[in-house]
Parts: sequence; structure tokens; C-alpha cells
Amino acid sequence: MGSKNDERNFWVGFDLGGTKMMAVVFDGELKVVGRERKKTKAYEGAEAGIERIVRTIGDALDDAHVKKDALAGIGVGTPGPLDLNEGVVVEAPNLGWKNVRLKQHVEKAFGCPAVVVNDVDAGLYAEYCFGAAQKAACAVGVFPGTGIGAGCVYRGMLIQGSKYSCMEIGHIPVVADGALCGCGQRGCLETVASRLAISSAAAVAASRGQAPHLLEKSGTDLANIRSNAITDSISGGDKAVEEIVRHAARWLGHGIAIVVNLLAPDVIVMGGGLVEAMPELYVEEVEKATRALVLPSYRKTFRLATAKMGDDATATGAAAWARHVLETS
Ligand SMILES: [Zn+2]
Repeated sequence: MGSKNDERNFWVGFDLGGTKMMAVVFDGELKVVGRERKKTKAYEGAEAGIERIVRTIGDALDDAHVKKDALAGIGVGTPGPLDLNEGVVVEAPNLGWKNVRLKQHVEKAFGCPAVVVNDVDAGLYAEYCFGAAQKAACAVGVFPGTGIGAGCVYRGMLIQGSKYSCMEIGHIPVVADGALCGCGQRGCLETVASRLAISSAAAVAASRGQAPHLLEKSGTDLANIRSNAITDSISGGDKAVEEIVRHAARWLGHGIAIVVNLLAPDVIVMGGGLVEAMPELYVEEVEKATRALVLPSYRKTFRLATAKMGDDATATGAAAWARHVLETS
């Protein structure tokens, strides 16, 4: 794979999200030379979705004035579970896709090799190459949102299973016979530490009259209680919501402590809506809990950093990972 022909010197990184998709074209040094963004429109189905992906990449190439025969490869970051070898999206609940042969379709459309990678892994790999985790021997990324994504770059390689991506920190069972998780199991870390867990506890507090500011501004509908509404409620004086956030942060620290004890990372990169909305309150509480719970000899062996790569993280990491995989295979 991977032509060494000098003319094939450009890369595309693709970020397939639940609501929007983005293609970024990079030169050989992975500097951005063009981009395109479209709505995902998952409700149109997988076939229409593939067409939109191909069109988005094509438009990004036009934007960069790069012809498809100048492409060395395409990296596609997508929510999992994925069959990494075959480049198949096994199931993407956000998109309603099942068994979509993404790699095959993209390779056929652009005549170059494609690599499919978990979107969280891609984001962390970008942090490792260009952002908050540069030069780390072992970097763990934790991205609490609706769920809790995580990844690990160990000595320059993304840790992946032989077939599937891994580091499913959100589904570590932490509460015996706890609340039902989106995955079908009970008591996963996500059920106590995700943004959804915080939002639902905050909605309950609002309906009980314990969070008057939240009730007035956002009501009790979960869809309206996102990261910014939570921050707003806390700064408006809702003590109950602050305690709910701190409680969830302590649970996340519990999950991260498990990972620290297993992998002894030198950096833990945190990103996502909650981290961006509450860089102090939330991240500090997570850090305090993590350090309190790890094996005492690990207490000072890692640092916590916030993600730096922003909206381009997944696309950048997907392109960089594709290059890594294709140039070392
Ligand atoms: Zn679960």
C-alpha cells in the first residue's frame, strides 16, 4: 500500500459526527490546505451518507485545489464499534448505521488507500502528534460527553484490539447492579459520570425545587440541559447542581484511577463539552479524586492536561494515523 510517488503527497482526514461531517485536506507536513463541512443527515440512511462523505471529501479537495490522484491516503474517524481491519462501521447508534463498508467505498471513490479509526482515538492521536500529549510515552485521553470516550497512545501506537477499538472507560462497571446504561449493562461509569448522568440528576433537582436558576432558564427537559446550561445554573447559585457536577467528577476520577493503575500514563488529556464549560471546577475535582484513589506511588507520576486541538482534532488525527499506518505497513 502507500505509493512512494512524490506526486501522491496529500492526505485527507475525515470526521464523521452524528450531526456534522468534515473533511480536511493536508499537505505532506500535515498542514491544512483545504476543508469542507456538511450536515450528516443520518436520517437519510447509510447509502446517502456514503454519498455525502464522498461529496464532502471531493469538495474539500476542490477547496484545496488538489486532484484525487495526488492523494496518498484518507483517514476516516468515526464512532464505533468498528471492524478496523475491514474498515467497517459495525454499528453506529448515532447514525443508525449497521455494517457499512466505509473503507471500501472511500477507496473506490478516490483510488487511494483509506484507514478507518475510532473518532476518539483519532482525536487523542492528534493531541499526541501536535497538541497536549506530545512526546508522551503513554498518553490517555478521556472525553466525557453524552457518553465517556477514551483512548490510549502507547509509545507512538494507538492501543487497539486485533479487530476492534478499545479503552471503553465509560463502560467499566463501577456500581454493582446500578442504573441501566445505554450499552445494556448496569452500573457502567457512564451512568454516574457522563454529561447525561449530570443532566438527568440536575433535571430531577430542578423539578424538586433544588435548582431554581436551572428551572427558570432551561426547565427540566434533558435536551435543554447541556454543558453550558449546567455552568450557567452553577454560576446562578444552584448549589445542588454544583454538588451534582462534583459528584460526577469524583466518579470520573474513580474511573481514571483504574486506568492509571493499569497503564501508568504520563499524561491524561481531558476534552469535550464539560471540560470546556468548566475547566476549573470540573477538571480540578476530577484531578483531586484521581490522585486520591490511585496507587500511592503513582500519585505524582502523571499530569492532567486539557485538549488543545479543538474542532479539527478528529480529522487531523485520522489523517496522521492513516499516514502512520500506511507508511509503516
Ligand atoms: Zn455501559
